[in-house]
Amino acid sequence: MPKLALVTGANRGIGLGTARQLAAAGAHVLLAGRDGEAVTEAAKALQDDGLAVTPLVLDVTDPASIRSAAAEVEDGHGRLDILVNNAGIRVEEYGKQPSEQPVARWRETFDTNLFGLVEVTTAFLPLLRRSPAARIVNVSSLLGSLTTHTDPQSYVYSPMFKSLPAYSAAKSALNSWTVHLAYELRETPIKVNAVHPGYTRTGMNDGEGDLDVADGARSSVAMALLDHDGPTGTYTHEGETIPW
Ligand code: NAP
Repeated sequence: MPKLALVTGANRGIGLGTARQLAAAGAHVLLAGRDGEAVTEAAKALQDDGLAVTPLVLDVTDPASIRSAAAEVEDGHGRLDILVNNAGIRVEEYGKQPSEQPVARWRETFDTNLFGLVEVTTAFLPLLRRSPAARIVNVSSLLGSLTTHTDPQSYVYSPMFKSLPAYSAAKSALNSWTVHLAYELRETPIKVNAVHPGYTRTGMNDGEGDLDVADGARSSVAMALLDHDGPTGTYTHEGETIPW
């Protein structure tokens, strides 16, 4: 039976690249997103390439949407093998000092990038527990690394990357949640890891970046397909450990 994978925020960007690669590796992928038309269209593009992909409406900030998506997966499949928590937003404007970002932006950022991710994970955990070897991948960022943020030699030690304090703090919190959940699940087959995709050319970066979407998806895909000897509770980019 093929592995069943769910990728959030998969209608475009790194999530779409991740869905494509997981399906190409033989998984049946639930391509999730908040906009029904967008997920249907994105899923169709992959289906036209012969890939096993099904659209799924899932807004990670909407508890009713999360419940209904989890019920749909339970009714249709009874389990989940891979959850890639990829959906994310960057709503802070570049060019501001950290203290100048409005609190409303902090709330919006945390609602999607942290609280949404936690709520999706806990809603799907019963289905992941039914898998013989489930994997949870939390898509973080290098901006979640406090060590990197305080290293004057890092490119993150710059006005541009210091203008996203809420985004960075939400990714640091996501890293902490990864460690906590990996601890809770340490005696189970479920592995929980955080990844930095790399600086990738997507809508989030207004098309700027070093990597294309296929390369940006590689870290998520590798952690989603870990075998039983693989690690849990880590924070990596393409297999290299990132300092917390
Ligand atoms: P992107 O192109 O802007 O795509 C973001 C995806 O998240 C879209 O599908 C978007 O859906 C979805 N999304 C946003 N809010 C959602 C919600 N409430 N419910 C469900 N889906 C939602 O961004 P990306 O660059 O691919 O980013 C993917 C992940 O990688 C994010 O977690 C980001 O923080 C992380 N990351 C990216 C980079 C980079 O350089 N690009 C670097 C480090 C980390 P809509 O189409 O409906 O808006």
